[in-house]
Amino acid sequence: MAYQEAAKPGAGVKLLIRNIGLLLSGDLQRPILDADTVLVKDGKIAAIGREKELDVEGLARVIDANGTTLAPGLIDSHVHPVAGDWTPRQNQIGWIDSCLHGGVTTMISAGEVHMPGRPKDILGLKAMAITAQRAFAALRPSGVKVLAGAPVIEHGMVEEDFRSLAEAGVRLLGEVGLGSVKDGPTARQMVAWARKHGMQSTIHTGGPSIPGSSLIDKDVVLAADADVIGHVNGGHTALPDAQIRSLCEESTRALEIVHIGNERAALFTLHTASELKQLHRVILGTDAPAGSGVQPLGIIRVIAALSSVGEIPAEIAFCFATGNTARMRNLDTGLIEVGRAADFVFMDAAQHSAGKTLLESVRLGDLPGIGMVVIDGEIRSERSRNTPPAARLPKITK
Ligand SMILES: [Zn+2]
Repeated sequence: MAYQEAAKPGAGVKLLIRNIGLLLSGDLQRPILDADTVLVKDGKIAAIGREKELDVEGLARVIDANGTTLAPGLIDSHVHPVAGDWTPRQNQIGWIDSCLHGGVTTMISAGEVHMPGRPKDILGLKAMAITAQRAFAALRPSGVKVLAGAPVIEHGMVEEDFRSLAEAGVRLLGEVGLGSVKDGPTARQMVAWARKHGMQSTIHTGGPSIPGSSLIDKDVVLAADADVIGHVNGGHTALPDAQIRSLCEESTRALEIVHIGNERAALFTLHTASELKQLHRVILGTDAPAGSGVQPLGIIRVIAALSSVGEIPAEIAFCFATGNTARMRNLDTGLIEVGRAADFVFMDAAQHSAGKTLLESVRLGDLPGIGMVVIDGEIRSERSRNTPPAARLPKITK
């Protein structure tokens, strides 16, 4: 029997994905599911199980996974979008589409800080946050869900500012520390106001990213108590190991490892979190676009690095960029679970990888070949133009 079924899995089913070789759940507690079929209805996962046990009447579309691996679409917990699929940071157009080809289906803004002439007065920063939230809610570049509208807090803001932002639909705070608020007590007060009104927060951690930004050390991070300890491995410059260890031990907030950060500090964070049984707090981001540019394969590169050099099973590393992020950030995606958004990435071992299976290849440090990306039940890209070619590809059969 299928172990997860909605009330009437056969009624109104639109999409069937069959012949899945390996189903990664995104759930750290049970990262691999014993199933070969996923049914999608109205953009949501409707049933998970064995094909012969599911009612597959009335299908609008069928994808034969051809023995490849299906995982939840990857979530980039830390990006800096500006407008649509354009970023002035490195004069780039199409960076979000490129990341879709790296398996990313959801991006979370840590502040629209690269907007040329970004307003820093309170009315202006609020107006810009509301505009970004509206613009990315109305237009998803290449279908990617960009959760944006993340104001950077400045001195002088009062609780009413957070209340009115929340009322206008703003759900995020940009990286604390990128504006004028860099002291623990003020940051703590504003983060608490944001939380009270239903807004999530993140904080810059480590040395300055670019000229003009500044150091945020572990004392400020602990005092601020933001929901996400943004780039705990530095963006780019990491804190000393003892301070990273304090953040793992003395906080319960998300430990965000980013692609552009210090790789040794990323491994130190991973091993410390593992030793403290805190792996559920590890989430991944890129921090793109950044001084080091956009790496469209950033999330899968961090997964492969943590699994291979960090010596953890690949199926666990995938959870960091899927289910962990979804849970720490209250998203309806990131897990293969009935009722969740049908956001998927199809992968296989890259051609000629020394690893015989997808998991073995990632454990050896190779990037997976991406064969297809689905968002809300709609196919958004087929064979990735950016990853090495996958050994096998899913096929659209109806
Ligand atoms: Zn930062």
